[in-house]
Amino acid sequence: MQLHIYDTLQRRVVPLTTERPDEVRMYTCGPTVYRPVHLGNLRSYLLADWLRRTLLYFGNAVTAVKNVTDVGHMRQDVVDRGEDKVIAAALAEGKTPKEIAEFYEVAFHEDERRLGILPAAHFPRATDHVPEMIAIIEKLVANGLAYEIDGAVYFAVKRFPGYGKLSGNVGEALKQGVRGELDPAKRDPVDFALWKKAEPGRALAWPSPWGAGFPGWHIECSAMSTKYLGERFDLHTGGVDNIFPHHEDEIAQSEGAFGHPSVRHWVHGQHLLADGVKMAKSARNTMTVDEMIELGIDPLAFRYQALLTHYRTRMHFSLGALRQAAEALDHLRQRVRRWSQLPEGDAANDTLRVGWLELFRRELANDLNLPAALGWLHRCAVDPDISDAARLDVFLEADKVLGLDLAAVASEHAMAPREVLASFEEHLAARATRDYQRADGLRGTVDGYRVEDQTADRALVSRADRRVAGRSRRTISSAKELPDHRNAPEARLWSVAIVTRDYPADLARCLAGVLRFLPRDAEVLVLDSGSGAEVQERLARLAAQDDRVHAFFADRELGEGAARNALLRVARGRLVLELDCSVELTGDLFARLERALADPAVGLAGPWGLRTTDLKHFDEVMDGETDAMQGYCAAARREVLLEIGGFDERYRFYRNLDIAVSLAIREKKYRVVALGAECARRHEHRIWESLSDDERLKRSRRNFDRMYKRFHGRAVLVGGPGARGPSD
Ligand code: AMP
Ligand code: ZN
Repeated sequence: MQLHIYDTLQRRVVPLTTERPDEVRMYTCGPTVYRPVHLGNLRSYLLADWLRRTLLYFGNAVTAVKNVTDVGHMRQDVVDRGEDKVIAAALAEGKTPKEIAEFYEVAFHEDERRLGILPAAHFPRATDHVPEMIAIIEKLVANGLAYEIDGAVYFAVKRFPGYGKLSGNVGEALKQGVRGELDPAKRDPVDFALWKKAEPGRALAWPSPWGAGFPGWHIECSAMSTKYLGERFDLHTGGVDNIFPHHEDEIAQSEGAFGHPSVRHWVHGQHLLADGVKMAKSARNTMTVDEMIELGIDPLAFRYQALLTHYRTRMHFSLGALRQAAEALDHLRQRVRRWSQLPEGDAANDTLRVGWLELFRRELANDLNLPAALGWLHRCAVDPDISDAARLDVFLEADKVLGLDLAAVASEHAMAPREVLASFEEHLAARATRDYQRADGLRGTVDGYRVEDQTADRALVSRADRRVAGRSRRTISSAKELPDHRNAPEARLWSVAIVTRDYPADLARCLAGVLRFLPRDAEVLVLDSGSGAEVQERLARLAAQDDRVHAFFADRELGEGAARNALLRVARGRLVLELDCSVELTGDLFARLERALADPAVGLAGPWGLRTTDLKHFDEVMDGETDAMQGYCAAARREVLLEIGGFDERYRFYRNLDIAVSLAIREKKYRVVALGAECARRHEHRIWESLSDDERLKRSRRNFDRMYKRFHGRAVLVGGPGARGPSD
């Protein structure tokens, strides 16, 4: 396939043509190694990497060169003052320039590796190529395009007719572009330095025909690109800030020296912005790969994030967006694991495989439209007609360009150490024999790996370091911060809603019971209402072990009514089971509840009912129609819970909220039925147990009064017209 790309010089999208058939030689302006590269620099290197991978994918041989500027890459005004970033950094850190450059060069390679950027064939250093630079400068002097004044050499811009063709900076615009540079030695302020005289005692200086000195900012790229790629090569890339003066001057130097253009195509990537301005060290808005890792974010999350913005569009960086990208990548990796470890469907649908890849390739060919290419892959991921094996194939093939290292994810199971696989098999076997305690115990023995149950008899292995840590630990301080899906259609059969606070062992027991009997088409929503960090961490780990569990965290106790409503906002199940952590499922309660709630006259069902004649004394009922359902375990159709307006958020404590909800449902003329405790067991209710008699009374009293006032005298009870007054 033929890549079409926006050529900065031609100012339009053109077919990328090459000097030699099926061979691309490309040069990318690399880092100045006096500080760590930031994500802005890396966005530019990613562009070069995606171009290279696309060209390879389209059947070309590619030779990539990226220079390392270890001296001399200086803004013109800095050159004019004879300063140098590397030297300045060395002085500041009490090191030699060579030590500084070596340190950051190693760090740069490590950063590129962590971002999955293919290493260039050559990383030439500027300091190793001073003779080549001098040779070009001599040619320019010989060609009458450069002049020497007192040990310095300048390029005579006005003598090179093509000057300005890349940037459009000619005439007045050019004068504007170079304003602020004050080098009295220049004949014309628009001229630029090719060689500067070394002041006495300068750390980095080389002998030259003009005396001891050092090179100007741009000459290294003319010298090193042509040395490694020839006097005519195909592609030159960089960030848009390189267009002027760096690349404009590079064109003048190379063309001026060789007498013909050197570069066939110029491609420039737009900037990465942070807080609305270009990410740059001087703006103090940078982020580095090390900083990402310190925050627990996989470096490849930035690669994924950068895929989402076309290279000619400014990209806005924020930590929030980066974290979202990390989660999206995690999601994609889980899909890849599922397709590779638990494939469904026949492998033989090659036409679909070819079709999806064709759509992907076409977007690449169209000015490297990676966001659109990724869009097709997302559609392929949910195509019901293609088999998982073929789907995996499409993604692994596409990933040769994307570079997200999905092949490593696909082989996690195959590459896992023998002990891990043995534990994994034992885990599956324990589950098969319903020895869940043992199964859960085995989970903890697989160091560095996670075992995630998918269905009753299947599980996934994943490398823990490739999973998003402590998934969705964003905390909320109000129910309204969770997405509101109340008007969205039902998306699954069951939502299990669990509100928890402290007592993580109870939650673990409750969750284990739920997951044991959870129907296929179900989600488990757990909201931690203000536990300490350690308990929330534990919940996050529990949730991360199972795809079906979604954890939400509140930074304070929301109150029982508000917390239940928070989960009701996100629940997408047709049926909702409200569960307390003191309850453990011991049988398939879901099937029984589903049967009971299939009757449209039934609004609420659960194991433990309550009956009353006066709203003051309540007797437990285990069977048949009743007045109320105990809130430890009660299920309703979502539409019924929404019909009564959800939970009354004035109930901060759980006591009597269940009665209020039950009676509100009865008020709408639905029946409430008790099913008995065959499939569920009640354990100690820790929160109740933890309170003094005084405290219990105080907290319950307010709720009782509220409930009593609301329903007293109303015809909501099964046994009669209403309650008697509070005085008797
Ligand atoms: P420098 O080390 O400043 O010469 O930059 C090295 C490369 O990173 C050049 O190609 C720049 O164009 C590019 N670059 C610098 N800052 C950004 C940014 N915020 N966004 C995108 N590319 C950048
Ligand atoms: Zn350059």
